[in-house]
Amino acid sequence: MNTHTSERLSYPYEKPSLEHMQAHVNAAKQQQEQQACILHEAWAKTPAKLQDNAKAQAIAHLQNLLTQHNAVMVAHYYVAPELQDLALATGGMVGDSLEMARFGQNHSAQTLLVAGVKFMGETSKILSPEKTVLMPDLEATCSLDLGCPVDEFTAFCDQYPDRTVVVYANTSAEVKARADWVVTSSIALEIVTFLHSQGKKIIWGPDRHLGSYIQKQTGADMILWQGSCIVHHEFKGLELSLLKEKHPEALVLVHPESPAEVVAQADVIGSTSKLLQAAVNHSAKSFIVATDQGILHEMQKQAPHKQFFAAPTAGDGATCKSCAFCPWMAMNGLQNCISTLEDQSHAVQVSHTTLHAARRSIQRMLDFSAAYREFGVAKDGADLNAHISQFQQWLEQNHEHAQKLV
Ligand code: SF4
Repeated sequence: MNTHTSERLSYPYEKPSLEHMQAHVNAAKQQQEQQACILHEAWAKTPAKLQDNAKAQAIAHLQNLLTQHNAVMVAHYYVAPELQDLALATGGMVGDSLEMARFGQNHSAQTLLVAGVKFMGETSKILSPEKTVLMPDLEATCSLDLGCPVDEFTAFCDQYPDRTVVVYANTSAEVKARADWVVTSSIALEIVTFLHSQGKKIIWGPDRHLGSYIQKQTGADMILWQGSCIVHHEFKGLELSLLKEKHPEALVLVHPESPAEVVAQADVIGSTSKLLQAAVNHSAKSFIVATDQGILHEMQKQAPHKQFFAAPTAGDGATCKSCAFCPWMAMNGLQNCISTLEDQSHAVQVSHTTLHAARRSIQRMLDFSAAYREFGVAKDGADLNAHISQFQQWLEQNHEHAQKLV
């Protein structure tokens, strides 16, 4: 054994016992089995595919129900294409979670039918407590939400009382209530840059990939909760580089919930909305897309002459757990949208105390976003630190905005 190797093998800390290592392996195995079981249950609840005739009838029926119940449909880009199309055709919307929250809050309909996952329904309820918020399946959740239980997260935050708690929108209402700020992937970089420029130290939860991407970009002092998205975590760096070799002309679009080795190969990094804009507006004719494949429907619709390739989640012959489709998003279907509206069932409930505390941290993000848009969003490639510092100066002259961000 040469010196170099022995150095690499030497332990800089007390060597763990075999029992200790075995306990770790067992815990990891148990976690994997639990996860597999949860995913299996989610896939089992995915509504059956309808034949064309039945689908057309269901769509017509759902359209009537929406009118009858003064309801509007708010859908995420990752749900089934027919739900996205129906939301748009009936005066609703399709968007990312920030756009969904804004739309639901501003729309006059008394009932919001949210086709997405639980945290999206909760956010709609928090922002519109006077409205009825229905979801096709209240068990449609998210691995980030599941991986960040409020008690454990609170205990984690309590260890660092001097830090500002910033949580991603993909969390429960209770976790949002514990946070100082809620962010979505479309505004996270700007908000963390803003907090960092004020000298704030941050606790970030729950997505570790997005957190470490933001940490690298901003240089902020961040302690990260170690959660991940079951879909984005599975994109593979090596397989992506092989696909790029096959399609050297393709622009690579990556959501920052993906692992660092995938993000490092991106031409465009951003939220689903930002990736969609890039697909439509960029002069490239082909794209490799690393996010849930549900987005390809809208990309193909808005850019019909362009070609889209899904980024690989695993090597040939390997297995993947989500295969670039979110099992919980797939739980939304025409059938359960209909039964929810017919029965007025699956109403989202959030307790009064949680709702008010969570609203404060969500509203801060919405207020930041409104002020930042009024000031002027940074152009692609601009120095974000310099831009945010100008924004800070602008806030000093615009107290009504500044007061909302304290
Ligand atoms: S795609 Fe990932 S982040 Fe989005 S809902 Fe599914 S598990 Fe959560």
